[in-house]
Amino acid sequence: MLSQSFQEALNEHLKQEWYSSYLYLSMAAYCESINFPGFAHWMRLQADEEREHAMSFYRFILDRGGRVRLLAIPQPPTDFASPAAIFEQALAHEQEVTTMIGQLYSRATAEQDHASQVFLQDFVREQVEEEKTASEIVETLRMIGDNNVALLMLDRELARRGAEVSSASTA
Ligand code: MG
Repeated sequence: MLSQSFQEALNEHLKQEWYSSYLYLSMAAYCESINFPGFAHWMRLQADEEREHAMSFYRFILDRGGRVRLLAIPQPPTDFASPAAIFEQALAHEQEVTTMIGQLYSRATAEQDHASQVFLQDFVREQVEEEKTASEIVETLRMIGDNNVALLMLDRELARRGAEVSSASTA
């Protein structure tokens, strides 16, 4: 059984995952507006993934006999300086999410809530991946600097996100 305060913390985090989805969708919309369809595609898939994270929290709260309460999602930023600035912000955001997941995990441990610890372990692992992926793109964008040809090539490369998964599964 979830404690009342931990249930509230899980509902709060459910909102945070929706915020992540909303933030990445806003980044996608901005990338569309400056004609970078590949960056937009990458961000849209990222937004879908964050919605799935939110729904995992939704499901977990219900499975534990808890009550899901949807909280207000803050408005994400709508304007960004450049693709490089977007990915720097995405990385900083993932680092914040890592801290939040860590805090939830510490609380679950303090409450000896083993089911929540096991559930959260997937997210501890997930955050390692999220930070790694975002840092790799940030590093590439730093190398690219103001080389527009290289920037367009990276846009084309990120347009293939998702395609490698489906081709790998059919191989
Ligand atoms: Mg997430």
